[in-house]
Amino acid sequence: MTNKILPTYARTNVTFDHGDGCELVATNGDRYLDFGAGIAVNSLGHGHPLLVEAIQNQAAKLMHVSNLYKIDGQERLAERLCEHTFADKAFFANSGAEANECAVKMARKYQFAAGKPERYRIITFAGGFHGRTLAMIAAGGQAKHLEGFGPKVDGFDQVPFGDSEALKSLISHETAALMIEPIQGEGGINSADVDFLKELRSLCEEHGLLLIFDEVQTGVGRTGVLYSYEQYGVEPDILTTAKGLGGGFPVGACLATDEVAYPMVAGSHGSTFGGNPLAMAAANAVLDVVLEPGFLEEIREKGLVLKQKLASVTDQFPEVFDMVRGEGLLLGLHAKVPPQDVVSACFDEKLLCVPAGDNVVRILPPLIATTKEFDQAIAAIERAAGTISEKMKKEQSTL
Ligand SMILES: *Cc1c(COP(=O)(O)O)cnc(C)c1O
Repeated sequence: MTNKILPTYARTNVTFDHGDGCELVATNGDRYLDFGAGIAVNSLGHGHPLLVEAIQNQAAKLMHVSNLYKIDGQERLAERLCEHTFADKAFFANSGAEANECAVKMARKYQFAAGKPERYRIITFAGGFHGRTLAMIAAGGQAKHLEGFGPKVDGFDQVPFGDSEALKSLISHETAALMIEPIQGEGGINSADVDFLKELRSLCEEHGLLLIFDEVQTGVGRTGVLYSYEQYGVEPDILTTAKGLGGGFPVGACLATDEVAYPMVAGSHGSTFGGNPLAMAAANAVLDVVLEPGFLEEIREKGLVLKQKLASVTDQFPEVFDMVRGEGLLLGLHAKVPPQDVVSACFDEKLLCVPAGDNVVRILPPLIATTKEFDQAIAAIERAAGTISEKMKKEQSTL
């Protein structure tokens, strides 16, 4: 392995050569079932023919053109995202963090245009994750993400996830917006209560604040609806989406209502690459599949099946797991051992999954995964849990 890469990731010693549906094939020929999906990115799995074809065709035609010109794919994607959500406007970025930067800028600009420039602070929630830019590490508020990077960007305050009393006491004449993940992903698949999100909506009405949903991880069908706010019956003013949107091609978007987006005029924001034809072709191809009649419904059904199967694993290995969480195919196993131990043991069983905060192992299959692949994954998790359980017993007997 080269030491020329900035070592900001603790990488597993495996190199994947190619992908095939829900599987990744290593350079030595080993096949892994990919239930991490690049952290909720490879929504259509690997090598999906429609996605590959869309990217190939677009690459041959036109990869990049400046946002100084009209871009057909961008217009089409904006139309579709707005048609299928609460939103009236879309801004295209290249990542989740960038989409969130747009959301925060838009919220502040809205308050500014409303004659309230003092309203610039954003209240976020402990355990949240919004990306790694300087502003977004301030929004996430995690000490380990902030340490050593200079003064924390001003304007972000956290309250505990679900704590409406703490929230109410923090809202001030300087508050512009509340920003929350309806289901915290990196934080450990923590779903907000419906009542809590409804309260956020009414607090926003009461105090003239905007509600921002960070659906970077929950979006594009992951939870069984296009965006998880639909399940909650609570509409945000601004929503961000990225990860699964391009099915592996980098793309993000910030969606908003006209009521909120109007001050974002020419020159107020921009991105060289954001909304480029290639990214738009990828995202439009992903939507072709996800918006196909019945596709989202199938995710909900498959999600229930997988959740039940995972619940039976927790019953079988209560010393290793104690709970299954999540919606659709955004699932988490709450572990009683370090989640990385479970992820490593699953890796040894040729199953990829992803650790998260709060001792959770994320199970994020491609949205196209079949129940047969679920069974394969469950068998691998059972073997992994068996190994961990044996090890625990041995350790206990030597104490
Ligand atoms: C991954 C993630 C981000 C950051 O996305 P990047 O593309 O890595 O910038 C932001 N918010 C949530 C909820 C995420 O899961």
